[in-house]
Amino acid sequence: MFLLSVNCLKAQENYKQITEGKEVYAGGDSYDVKLFKAKTKGKKPKNVVLMIGDGMGVSHIFAGLTANKGHLYLENFKNIGFIKTHSANNYITDSAAGGTALSCGVKTYNGAIGMNIDTVSVVNIREIAEEKGKSTGVVSTSSITHATPASFIAHQPERTMYEAIAADFLKTDIDVFIGGGLKHFTQRADNRNLAEELEKRGYFVEKDINSIRDIDAEKLAGFTAYEHNGNCSERKDMLQISTSTALNILDKNKKGFFLMIEGSQIDWASHQNNTQYLVSEMLDFDKTIGLVLDFAFRNKETLIIVTADHETGGFAINGGDVATGRIEGAFITGNHTALMVPVFAFGPGAENFSGIMENTDITQKLIDIF
Ligand code: MG
Ligand code: ZN
Repeated sequence: MFLLSVNCLKAQENYKQITEGKEVYAGGDSYDVKLFKAKTKGKKPKNVVLMIGDGMGVSHIFAGLTANKGHLYLENFKNIGFIKTHSANNYITDSAAGGTALSCGVKTYNGAIGMNIDTVSVVNIREIAEEKGKSTGVVSTSSITHATPASFIAHQPERTMYEAIAADFLKTDIDVFIGGGLKHFTQRADNRNLAEELEKRGYFVEKDINSIRDIDAEKLAGFTAYEHNGNCSERKDMLQISTSTALNILDKNKKGFFLMIEGSQIDWASHQNNTQYLVSEMLDFDKTIGLVLDFAFRNKETLIIVTADHETGGFAINGGDVATGRIEGAFITGNHTALMVPVFAFGPGAENFSGIMENTDITQKLIDIF
């Protein structure tokens, strides 16, 4: 018990605690899913949108599909594969090594952000896009300094170095980022006010989702929470609004863009073994996929990759009903598992992303065709 509380304190990640008796989802609202036929211009994408469902395994997706009475936007994707998620030092990855594999294309140790096993910085796919003159963005439903989004920005030896990670945003030329975590920019041990520094560098710094919704800026730093965002029922359509805003800003660049969008809390719901929370986060992520599909369908030069960094919960479905959306969920752990996770690709270049791959292959392939 003592050890457990020390570990929890050390991690300061209270979303990881199991809540008992939340395995069954009774059913609820559903939405209509539109089918898009991929029409592509050329073989290489001008734009890439990488969408990461943190902790999202096949069971999570099927829970979402059942809860939505039989369909998801994900069904638009015809190129499907799997990735092996193990890190350099662990059969079971954390989100830092998993994020770094997807951002930098290298296997590293659990906890590393944008660094290899020797704690040497590795260039990430967003930086490569930036060097090519493309616009770049990152959107997340966690703090923007949390492991997954941080992997596309920062280079730090340990994921909990939130203030150093926040400072790394100032070393980039990123065009738009939206997520929680204002605290790590403004209430810092070094007394720097990074929000003011961002403003001096020409960013619109917005702290309200309604101003993020309406903004037409060249550069945007959007903070949707002081620390983490609330869950889906609390933050409502924050992820869809943020995604639309980011696409509007990024699409102005004739050379194209790279955008990473994270559904962070699929993982947190799974750590908590809470099926209702898991389903609502899964459907929120899928609705956002629908929005990006709608953009890509009209744009024709956008490759969308949807994948996960790892599976969380060892989530399984013991029973349910597509007609009512009921799901009898079960979890074998409050942590991550070693399972392969799916990869879905849509748009020009999508055919490269099928079969069983390493997580690092995603970025290596993107570098080749982007
Ligand atoms: Mg994450
Ligand atoms: Zn996790």
